[in-house]
Amino acid sequence: MTKIRDLLDGGRTFSFEFFPPRTDEAARELEKTIGELEPLHPSFVSVTYGAGGSTRERTRDVVVHIERDTGITAMAHLTCIAHTREQLVSLLEEYRAAGIQNILALAGDPPTDTVDFPHDLTYALELVRLIREVGDFSIGVAAHPELHPRSSSRDSDRRHLAEKLVEADFGITQFFFEAEPYLRMIDELAALGCTTPVLPGIMPVTNAKQVQRFAQLAGAAFPPHLAARFAAVADDPVAVRALGVEIATDLCRTLLDAGVPGLHFYTLNRSPATREVYANLGLS
Ligand code: FAD
Repeated sequence: MTKIRDLLDGGRTFSFEFFPPRTDEAARELEKTIGELEPLHPSFVSVTYGAGGSTRERTRDVVVHIERDTGITAMAHLTCIAHTREQLVSLLEEYRAAGIQNILALAGDPPTDTVDFPHDLTYALELVRLIREVGDFSIGVAAHPELHPRSSSRDSDRRHLAEKLVEADFGITQFFFEAEPYLRMIDELAALGCTTPVLPGIMPVTNAKQVQRFAQLAGAAFPPHLAARFAAVADDPVAVRALGVEIATDLCRTLLDAGVPGLHFYTLNRSPATREVYANLGLS
């Protein structure tokens, strides 16, 4: 049992993110992926949580299974919007009882189809404080190098992020495709007196159209010069994957050279692209 804050104190971390599978077949696919990534000795892995609690049990079951049955440190994502305080406390108590020590505290996104939902907590910082009340968890929070889509200004975004990071143990970023926005964010946080480690989130592109859609939703820019390189090989899926791995490798190299505290890979429950980037970096 390991706390991510202790891992970060000890040096760089390398981590992978999964989402909870919806079907038996998807569960088998995830097991296979975990088995393929295990030899890379990840520092930890994390499992996402469906907005509004839609994957409450599935996220919990996958996190507990990974931690217990593989020995890999597993972190549960948790969102607070549209939850009562009691619902959050009860899930956190289940994690505490199961020996889970790491939680990624998120606001989540409000439902778009109704205003009739609990409003006990609104911001991730409130969840960080609630988690501290429930147990001695190591707590991560989300960071958006290219600003959170709901932020009214760069200044307010960075101020709220710094306040949240100061009370958390570490951050993990939304994915991004060029180092500059991440490095600028770290400088802006430092200027606000915040030096909490923030792990860059890496998404190797294996399907350019899909990633452009994700990027739009997440408020991340898909730079036109990269889009043009993908467009040039769009008819050849093998070339698209190879280009995605090359671009992710270059980004990781730049970030490692800049002294990042670790790398967090968005795997989409598949291992090959992440393994290839790892091999290119000489990490495997
Ligand atoms: P917050 O930190 O609360 O910020 C949300 C907005 O509110 C920002 O614009 C911020 O500037 C503003 N704000 C903060 N505090 C205040 C204040 N006091 N007053 C006014 N404004 C304020 N979503 C899921 O549903 N499930 C997941 O598993 C999941 N995992 C994620 C993992 C990572 C690494 C990242 C980067 C995102 C993840 N998300 C996930 C998405 C996340 O839930 C959304 O981005 C959500 O819209 C905001 O969450 P947050 O924790 O960043 O919110």
